[in-house]
Amino acid sequence: MSLRRFPLLPLALGLLALLPQVLAAQAAPAPPDTGRVTAIRAGRLIDTETGKVASGQMILVRGGKIVDVGPDVDVPPGARTIDLADHAVLPGLFDAHAHMLLTTKRERDNNNYYITTLLEPTAYRAVQGVGNALAMLRAGFTTIRDIGNAGLYGDVALKQGIEEGWVEGPTMLVSGVIIAPFGGQFHVQPEKPELAEPEYLFADSRDEIVAAVRRNAHFGADFIKIVTDDQRYIYSVDDIKLFIEEAGRMGMKVAAHCWDIGAHNAALAGVASIEHGLYMPDSTLQVMKKNNVYLVGTDFTELASREMGRDLFTPAVDRLRRAYRIGVPIAFGTDVVFSLQGEDRGTLTIDFVSSFERAGIPPNDILKMMTGNAARLLGVDKERGFLRAGMAADIIAVPGDPLADIDALREVDFVMKNGRVVRHDAGEEDEPLLGSRAASTAR
Ligand SMILES: [Zn+2]
Repeated sequence: MSLRRFPLLPLALGLLALLPQVLAAQAAPAPPDTGRVTAIRAGRLIDTETGKVASGQMILVRGGKIVDVGPDVDVPPGARTIDLADHAVLPGLFDAHAHMLLTTKRERDNNNYYITTLLEPTAYRAVQGVGNALAMLRAGFTTIRDIGNAGLYGDVALKQGIEEGWVEGPTMLVSGVIIAPFGGQFHVQPEKPELAEPEYLFADSRDEIVAAVRRNAHFGADFIKIVTDDQRYIYSVDDIKLFIEEAGRMGMKVAAHCWDIGAHNAALAGVASIEHGLYMPDSTLQVMKKNNVYLVGTDFTELASREMGRDLFTPAVDRLRRAYRIGVPIAFGTDVVFSLQGEDRGTLTIDFVSSFERAGIPPNDILKMMTGNAARLLGVDKERGFLRAGMAADIIAVPGDPLADIDALREVDFVMKNGRVVRHDAGEEDEPLLGSRAASTAR
C-alpha cells in the first residue's frame, strides 16, 4: 500500500508505538477509596520490630494508608469504626517464597511438580493462582514474593489482575521465569530437552545471562530468581555477580535457589536472598551474615515433608537453629505447592510457623521475620510491614496472643489490605470485588 493513499498512516503507526505506555497508564494500581476514614480500635497493638505491646490504641486509615496511630487520636465524625478491642492487632504478614501458580496433585503427580508443569497450561494455573492468592490473603498474608514456576509469566498476569481489582489477593512481587543453567531443576531426556521450558529460562554463557535478565525485566519481573544448584554444572561466583549487576541496573534484586555448594557461591557473590539452603554448613551461614544475605529457608514442616515424600523437616529446623544463632538475617518464606483435603494455601502456609517454633525461635522474632525483615528483603519497607503513619493499611488481627504462642496466628479473623476490609469474621467486610465492574470503577 502507498502512503499517499493513507496520509494518516505514519501518525497511526506513531500512536501504535505509544500503545505500551497507554496500557501501562491504565494498569496503574486501583486507588482505594480516598475520602472515607476508618478508625480501628486496637486492644493490643503489637510492634513486630520490638515485640512491645501498646494497649488501647486507635489506628486511623484513609486512602488506603495509615494516617495516625496512638492512644488518643482525633476520629473525624462520620468515620467508620472497627472494634478490635479484644484482639491483638499487627501488620499484615509476608511470605517471601510463594508459588501461587503451582499446585501439585498427589494422586496424579505424586507431588512431582515436573509432571504438574507438563500437564497444566499457564491459563489453568493462573485460575488456580486466583484461588491460592485469595486464600493467602484471608489467612493474613497481605504481601508475597512469588518466586517463579508460574508457567509463561502467569505470575505477572495475576499481579496485574490484583492491582487492577479484577481479583482479590496480596500485594505481589514476581520473578517471571526462573533463570537456570541448561535443564533448570529438571532432568530432561535427549529427545525432549524442551520440556523444561518455559518453566525455566536457560542461560549458560555470560551473554545468555544478560539476555535472560533483560527478558524477565521486559515481561514484568520485579526481581530475578536463579538456580545455583541442581546440576553437575553450576554458576560460578562471577556468573552470579553478573546476574546481580545486570538485575541491579533495573533496580531488581537476585534470589538464589540452592541447597549446599551453590549456596556458598551465592553467598560469596552477595545475592539478596538464599532460598532453601537446607544443607548449608555454618561456614556458608557466616558468609551470609557478613554479606547481609537473607535466609528464606522454606523451612519445611513435618506435614510438608510427609507430603513431599522425604524428611526435609529435620535438616530445615537444624539449619534454621544454626542460622538464628549465628545471626543471619531471616525472612519467612514457605514454598508450599502441595494441596491437602480440608486445607487451603493460606492455612498450609501459616503452618510453617511450627518449624520456627521447633527451632526455638521466640515468637517476637518470628513475627519480625514475617513482617519487617521480609519487607526489607523485598525492598518495600518504606511502604509496608509496619503499623505507622504513612504506611499502607495492611492490618490483621487475632483473638489470642501471638507473642505468648505463635500458633495464635492460625486464628486470623480480620484482614485489611490497602484499607479494604477483606475479612472480618465478627463484623462487616467491604464489598467483594466483582470482576469488570470493580476493575472499571477502580480506574
Ligand atoms: Zn520454591
